[in-house]
Amino acid sequence: MKKGSIVTLEMEKFADRGKSLTKLDGYVVFVAGAVPGDTVKARVFKKRKKFAEATLLEVVTPSPLRTEAKCAYFLTCGGCKWQHVNYESQLEAKTQSVRDAFEHHGGFDSVQVENTLGTDNTYYYRNKMEFSFSSGRWLTPTEISSDEKFDTSFALGLHVPGNWAKVLDLSECHLQSELSAELVNAVRTLSLENGWKPWDTRRHVGYLRHLVIRQSTKMPEMMVNLVTSYVDTERMALFAEFLQAQFPQVTTLVNTINSTQAQTAFGEEAHVIFGSGVVHDKIGDCTFEIASNAFFQTNTVQAQVLYEVALEYAELKPTDLVYDLYCGAGTISCFIAPHVKQVVGVELINEAVKNARRNAKANGIENVTFVTGDMMRLFNAAFVKKHGRPDVLIVDPPRAGMHPKVVDQIRELAPDRFVYISCNPMTQARDLALLSDIYKIDKIQPVDLFPHTHHIESVARLKKK
Ligand code: SAH
Repeated sequence: MKKGSIVTLEMEKFADRGKSLTKLDGYVVFVAGAVPGDTVKARVFKKRKKFAEATLLEVVTPSPLRTEAKCAYFLTCGGCKWQHVNYESQLEAKTQSVRDAFEHHGGFDSVQVENTLGTDNTYYYRNKMEFSFSSGRWLTPTEISSDEKFDTSFALGLHVPGNWAKVLDLSECHLQSELSAELVNAVRTLSLENGWKPWDTRRHVGYLRHLVIRQSTKMPEMMVNLVTSYVDTERMALFAEFLQAQFPQVTTLVNTINSTQAQTAFGEEAHVIFGSGVVHDKIGDCTFEIASNAFFQTNTVQAQVLYEVALEYAELKPTDLVYDLYCGAGTISCFIAPHVKQVVGVELINEAVKNARRNAKANGIENVTFVTGDMMRLFNAAFVKKHGRPDVLIVDPPRAGMHPKVVDQIRELAPDRFVYISCNPMTQARDLALLSDIYKIDKIQPVDLFPHTHHIESVARLKKK
């Protein structure tokens, strides 16, 4: 097998990042866009010692796991790499990926992984989308092979994978809502008509940086957050007028300023242009206020499913003291508070903690305490002395998992009930392997919050040995 050669492959397994793999001449070959069960023709474009990567040229015999992808940008956009896999098979692949993570990254030989809990809403499920403006437009293969000429100096859409300077100019996206896609298209037209320039990542000039849309799932509320590199009162007034005239569904407009070189929608200042500057959404009986910079689970419906699993796994009692670690805006704390005596939440980001306190108050919840700080430094004997020994631990760390010091402290505390929620089963497996002498994994429930992507949330119930 040489670089550049065209090979026929029978795809065997799903691999990381929505690719599939098979073996040929002792190599593992990865093909993006192929599905296990496909026979494909592909061109080898990368060759390393043990693996190769090939570009899909033709599906000779399609796999029974295939379905029609919905989006025109499928395979070019980084958004939903599994649109061509039927949903049942996506769920099975996710269950398997959690099992693999525990076997390969945790060294567990038999863990009970339940079937992934899926959703009926496989499209239009996100309550937040972050679109980017760019002075470098990326064209799709169809656009390139058409006779049309494209101006590539302006784009509003999503990044292509692995290239932070290039953006696909999207006229459709099935992740948030039809209204959200209409808004993107209208904002593009308005910007072009007025000569507003997109941010140029190389020269660090240009006005428009991101368009963040937060649309509540349970309430008729919608936030537009236009992230710009500087304040321009006149333009913002025109933008506000445009939204109020054309998109009355938008209940609040925020203008975040980011003059730094960092490509993020978080900025130095957030100015509320009209409305309250927040949207509300509901999980269970709790209503949450979400500010422009607050973290909130992006799939409201499935977040509730996730929290219900955590609630069931924690087997809470009215006398319990629960620690909710990595608590974000206190959503889990508020969700479980009615079932227990007291919850103590810990979160790094001060803004999120402020939100958490406001959320608890607005829901009339009094038995929660939120503490700001880095778990690694904060979570020690003095913390436990101050807040009390927990009966139950619930943790929900970011993708990187928990710091070893945090794991050590959990070992010190070792409460009987321990629930570990994770958005990355590899680090979840790694962390739980460190505790496997004192905790047995009772079972693991994966929950799908991100249809058409390889991402998965998994909830592990631990039992003290
Ligand atoms: N449980 C929440 C948030 C989970 S996301 C929910 O369901 O919405 C993980 C959270 O951990 C984020 O809010 C992040 O800010 C926080 N975090 C990341 N590193 C941390 C650290 N070292 N100490 C405390 N919190 C941290």
